[in-house]
Amino acid sequence: MSSISTALQDICRRIEAAAVEAGREPSSIRLIAVSKTKPPHKIREAFDAGHRLFGESYLQEFLEKRADPLLEGLPIEWHFIGHLQSNKIRSVIGKVSLIHGIDKISTARELSRQALRQNLHANYLLEVNTSGESTKYGMAPNEALSAAEALFALPSITLRGLMTIASPDAALAAKEFGELRHLLEQLREVAPHPEQLSELSMGMSGDFEAAVMEGATMIRIGTAIFGARGAG
Ligand SMILES: *Cc1c(COP(=O)(O)O)cnc(C)c1O
Repeated sequence: MSSISTALQDICRRIEAAAVEAGREPSSIRLIAVSKTKPPHKIREAFDAGHRLFGESYLQEFLEKRADPLLEGLPIEWHFIGHLQSNKIRSVIGKVSLIHGIDKISTARELSRQALRQNLHANYLLEVNTSGESTKYGMAPNEALSAAEALFALPSITLRGLMTIASPDAALAAKEFGELRHLLEQLREVAPHPEQLSELSMGMSGDFEAAVMEGATMIRIGTAIFGARGAG
């Protein structure tokens, strides 16, 4: 068995164990295999092991990989998890089922405008900076609350939930995951369609079990599946 397939099995077991410990249904948590910087044959290896959901962070790299002969036409579900500038939005619509990293009202407006123009619909998550670290992207939680009404009103796009990258410190990370869940609950109270606003994208290789404990519905794992980046 390949190391990628073994790693996938191992992660799935750990997600399941954390879910059981949290009293949650393991199937309520989706694993996004983060394949950024990894070559198409590694993605193909994970696909052949049965995995279908992949996350990419860099637009040009993503567009090249999805058109690669090893991957083209496969029933892969792609998520875009990187930072997207407004001028790149148009190229990603229709190619991914979820965009995780929208962190400004102006970017959401552009997403809406481009989706409308292309006669497509886009699902997105709002990136929230729960750590308060100034080097991180994301809206402050109170900013997200005040932006909510404007975001809900935008046509051709649907806000499906929240995404965060937590602090490296485990205790802080657990607190930040809890804060993201709390923010989602607050947003659901004012949402016109709260049933559509249900996703919490949080947890990476180093902290996903804590994220599952705090209610993550999507976890984004790169290193623990594909190995360290920069190591092929
Ligand atoms: C790279 C990346 C990940 C995966 O991180 P690992 O620590 O390798 O699991 C998750 N989320 C985002 C937004 C990323 O850019």
